[in-house]
Amino acid sequence: MSGISVSGRTRVAAVIGDPVTHSLSPAIHNAAFAALGLDWIYVALPVRRARGSDAVRAIPDLGLAGMNVTMPHKADAARACDQLSDDAAALGSVNTVVPGHDGRLVGDSTDGPGFVAALREAGVEIEGGRALVLGAGGAARAVVLALGRLEASLVVAARRPEAARRAAALAPGGRAVSMGSLDLELSRANLVVNATPLGMGGEGPPFRTELLTPGHVVVDLVYAPLETVLLASARRLGATPVDGLGMLVHQAALAFKAFTGWDAPVAAMRAAAREAIADRGGSGRADASRRPVPPGLPG
Ligand code: NAP
Repeated sequence: MSGISVSGRTRVAAVIGDPVTHSLSPAIHNAAFAALGLDWIYVALPVRRARGSDAVRAIPDLGLAGMNVTMPHKADAARACDQLSDDAAALGSVNTVVPGHDGRLVGDSTDGPGFVAALREAGVEIEGGRALVLGAGGAARAVVLALGRLEASLVVAARRPEAARRAAALAPGGRAVSMGSLDLELSRANLVVNATPLGMGGEGPPFRTELLTPGHVVVDLVYAPLETVLLASARRLGATPVDGLGMLVHQAALAFKAFTGWDAPVAAMRAAAREAIADRGGSGRADASRRPVPPGLPG
């Protein structure tokens, strides 16, 4: 960010969330603008719960070039848009909003396509795979939708059976299974996706990792730390580990293209994401104590 120059002509993109200070998106997108020499800037805007729709509807009046949306605003943002991509409509959730020329707001969800791009980049064959997705939240639903489109057969395991059923229904033939049957489902699957926060605190997954084999591709959406206990086990047992960095970078690359019209400089974005994660001690969380608190703000 050094040497950045902001003028009245600088285009502005933003991410809204609550909280949003931990977001890696400013680091990723500003690195991309710098790599392409674009007079753009990307900022994180803390927007309180229940005010997400207002923030999205303000995009045209504020002249914002685009907006990313993170928790807890993704569903409100979808409702505030005039038009949704197929993915966003199916999920009822958006992470990217761009204003059209007529001021109409177009919402998209780039997580699923970002996930697929990351797997392709890792050389993983998805079509015809047998996937086990752990979790039924926003990320899991995007992954299930994307895998279902690619005709992978799919099971979803989550703590809340109803949430697992709703997520599984996003893929043709998708099934919800109980957490108690994870070991069995693991033996049937060749693609395992952790779409829960398990691993962020150094904990392992809720199944016997020793059941992983060289026939498994193991994807952890957690990106901080990059090498989770699950991925370390996968690596040790000869399975193919795929960390969450690829999805993080590719969902951002798709948003970048939607904002600017330019192909994203993926390598620069990946380097920035890696650096931001390392900068935060591998936790992905900003260490507030490392930055001075401006006068008048709570410490
Ligand atoms: P979310 O909407 O809050 O969903 C989290 C899911 O994990 C829910 O199904 C939740 O179950 C389950 N879960 C939470 N704690 C659990 C535990 N201790 N044991 C079993 N299940 C548990 O979150 P999300 O947005 O889907 O994100 C999930 C993870 O993916 C996060 O770590 C996030 O950082 C990561 N992610 C990565 C990317 C990327 O680009 N790499 C993108 C999006 C998300 P309950 O509903 O029962 O709580």
